[in-house]
Amino acid sequence: MVRLLVVGPPGAGKGTQAARLAEAYGIPAISTGDIFRANVRDETALGVEAKGFMDRGEYVPDSLTNALVADRLGHEDCAPGFLLDGYPRTVDQVRALDQVLADQGEKLDAVVELTVETEVVVKRILLRAKDSGRSDDADETVIRARLELFARETAPLIEVYGGRGLLVQVDAIGEIADVTDRITGALRQRGIE
Ligand code: AMP
Repeated sequence: MVRLLVVGPPGAGKGTQAARLAEAYGIPAISTGDIFRANVRDETALGVEAKGFMDRGEYVPDSLTNALVADRLGHEDCAPGFLLDGYPRTVDQVRALDQVLADQGEKLDAVVELTVETEVVVKRILLRAKDSGRSDDADETVIRARLELFARETAPLIEVYGGRGLLVQVDAIGEIADVTDRITGALRQRGIE
């Protein structure tokens, strides 16, 4: 039973590592970005609302995002735990998640922060754009807007979780498998297997 968050700037490799960690711990990786993209692709009401924000590199409003996560965490597959990738991203979302977990009598085990310098992630994202087809990856202005938003809105959460003693900081530069090993090694030291 393990409940994890993965935080870090766009391009830090959250999605890649989340999938590998989910496999390692036998829990679902829940990416709000993936869920929004699927809704945009299927042209659902949520997708139609979310699309403009995503194309501009802005955050989808907390009201929509919080409702989506509260619903998702209630699904059966989250019984053995979960890994959230890309949520929470605002202080309001932290409060909403705290509430959902408190209602279920649960708590987080660790918050993994992937650290990487800005110029490295800009290069990574532009490279990723070639394969991902993500419109928010192809435009450097949008990428920089997403990075600024991360610094302004999301970086403060890292301090919040640090204050709670949950933060595990991991250098996200290097081979994918090496980064995964660093994360699982750091989690093992905290008794998370
Ligand atoms: P990601 O795949 O995590 O990079 O997310 C892609 C985009 O989806 C973001 O730039 C936002 O527009 C939107 N998004 C994903 N997660 C959140 C969230 N927790 N809060 C608000 N917007 C989000």
